[in-house]
Amino acid sequence: MDARRIEYLHAMGVDVWVRRGLAPVAGPSLEPQAEQQWESLRAEVLSCTKCALHSTRTQGVFGVGNRRAEWLIIGEAPGAEEDKQGEPFVGRAGKLLNAMLLSLGLPRERVFIANVLKSRPPGNRDPKPDEVAACMPYLVRQIALLKPKLMLAVGRIAAQNLLATDVPLGRLRGQVHAFGELNTPLIVTYHPAYLLRTPADKRKAWEDLKFARSVFRRQAAQES
Ligand code: URA
Repeated sequence: MDARRIEYLHAMGVDVWVRRGLAPVAGPSLEPQAEQQWESLRAEVLSCTKCALHSTRTQGVFGVGNRRAEWLIIGEAPGAEEDKQGEPFVGRAGKLLNAMLLSLGLPRERVFIANVLKSRPPGNRDPKPDEVAACMPYLVRQIALLKPKLMLAVGRIAAQNLLATDVPLGRLRGQVHAFGELNTPLIVTYHPAYLLRTPADKRKAWEDLKFARSVFRRQAAQES
């Protein structure tokens, strides 16, 4: 195991473990029509004025990562740095998210990362219901085009909105939820910003990640 990974695992506050190798993301090339839909969705998101946040944001934040990703990570909304750079999870929470993913052997470039809201709520306040209602269809369309094998909702806002529930995050952890018509497995864990404030819970987040990995592997085995 290389020194950088050991460092990441330390950042996660977990013991070092040895993972099994992961195959690179492969698969048939994406259909041109799907690519076109993806690009027009991106353009729609970037020019969206469906809620008031468009007037205070610097730019829309569509999402980032691999178009063929098997894992889709979903957060809450862009923060100040994300609003500036146009990319999700690039601030301090993003660095921890990268470490969490790398501890599973998943570099950021291998997954796709998106948020429930594509525009930054001023002062990083919680999204309002009308903002979620306006923006959620974009995420639903991203999911339909990506067809991830596993979704990881990070934090209460993402989890509760995706699952249309007000059950507390603690009770949504440790279960395989099913999302949408494809019954995509959805796992819930803590938001990295929360983990930065509450490092004692990093260990529980690590349990969630290992759980997600086991669900992913079980599903991959069933499909092969
Ligand atoms: N928090 C989120 O939920 N998403 C981001 O993109 C950044 C911070």
